[in-house]
Amino acid sequence: MPAFSLDPPQTTWCAELRTLAAERLRPLAEKGEPGHVNRALVAELGQLGLLERLFTSGAVDLCLMRESLAYACTEAETALALQGLGAHPVHAHGTPAQRDRWLPRVAEGTAIAAFALSEPAAGSDAAALELRAEAGLEEGLAEGLVTDPLPAESAPAAEPDGTARWRLTGEKCWISNAPEADFYTVFARTTPGAGARGVTAFLVPADRPGLGGTSLDMLSPHPIGALTFDAVPVTADDVLGEIDRGFRVAMGTLNLFRPSVGAFAVGMARAALDATLAHTAERDAFGGKLKDLQTVAHQVAEMALRTEAARLMVYAAATAYDEGAEDVPKRAAMAKLLATETAQYVVDQAVQLHGARALRRGHLLEHLYREVRAPRVYEGASEVQRGIIAKELYAGREAAQ
Ligand SMILES: Cc1cc2nc3c(=O)[nH]c(=O)nc-3n(C[C@H](O)[C@H](O)[C@H](O)COP(=O)(O)OP(=O)(O)OC[C@H]3O[C@@H](n4cnc5c(N)ncnc54)[C@H](O)[C@@H]3O)c2cc1C
Repeated sequence: MPAFSLDPPQTTWCAELRTLAAERLRPLAEKGEPGHVNRALVAELGQLGLLERLFTSGAVDLCLMRESLAYACTEAETALALQGLGAHPVHAHGTPAQRDRWLPRVAEGTAIAAFALSEPAAGSDAAALELRAEAGLEEGLAEGLVTDPLPAESAPAAEPDGTARWRLTGEKCWISNAPEADFYTVFARTTPGAGARGVTAFLVPADRPGLGGTSLDMLSPHPIGALTFDAVPVTADDVLGEIDRGFRVAMGTLNLFRPSVGAFAVGMARAALDATLAHTAERDAFGGKLKDLQTVAHQVAEMALRTEAARLMVYAAATAYDEGAEDVPKRAAMAKLLATETAQYVVDQAVQLHGARALRRGHLLEHLYREVRAPRVYEGASEVQRGIIAKELYAGREAAQ
């Protein structure tokens, strides 16, 4: 696909997705409880075959789905994205047993996934995470968790049967879908003091003893919570990828998902723009319509201009990801940064041009105004994206010398 335009089947698919979102998903979303996982909505996304596509198609399709669903139903968009975020590490790094156990259920929408990286003292500085994975040699580490032995050199602690085991102790917070998910991709410190090089990713089913959590009430309807780990047992079978290489699992996942956060933002911006076109074309003002005021018309033009620029950058970044380009981290960061900041601007201007009615509880723009804020913070705040872009630019310069 050329980065600057969609082909006809893609355009048709996006139109279908917007219709599905409005007609089949929005009614289910409205029956859900804000701040909690809506299992009926996730199951419908599974029935429609959209969750399956998280594992069978690339970044461009992920962006098309997120943008199109966000246009008409942000709750459905977020439910889809969170299944992808939580399960992508299993898809990309899981063993056949891990994949067989979880991915079919994620795809049909009967198992809820979550991605647990952030902690109270480690958000933007994720490499500072402190959730401890302590090698456990004591007896009785949960019967039935035992598994294939690790190669001796990579096993930090092994039972007499050769199986590495740890206990996870600490906290995670701001975890989407927590504490209601069925499993968590959890990033824990296996080597103290080693920063990003001492983190391991674990697949932790929600029913493991010692795992608890609470819901957090946020501005948007996003389901989110905190998790507590009280010596939660995990074994070599639960490791995703390699021991002490979990930070790569996290960053690889974010390189895929960051452009798609941008697509979510573009979907919201387009919804706000279309609502503004409709409103300003119809609203009587000063003997004409609002759109007849040049300042209003130019404001709408500016909203469209910025939204289109963001859209192009999102699809260019997604295309780069699918092509395995070298500069994916930089492009992913640029796309997420531009699109989320743009969507904030566009939604805010849309509220302005609608006046009071946009601020009434239940109005589309009141909903979007609450939804649009968090993407500038999660998966790397805008300032963090600027840091990534600068680092990649200077690294590129050095490599070229
Ligand atoms: C709705 C929502 C859903 C989330 N879902 C998940 C999830 O599923 N899994 C998960 O692991 N986490 C999740 N998070 C957490 C999110 O990733 C963190 O909030 C984010 O990484 C920022 O961390 P922090 O909130 O601790 O802010 P801090 O790290 O304390 O940063 C606060 C602010 O400081 C500034 N800042 C930070 N670092 C820099 C820098 N290097 N340069 C300049 N300025 C800087 C920025 O303005 C930043 O917003 C979610 C958050 C929200 C709001």
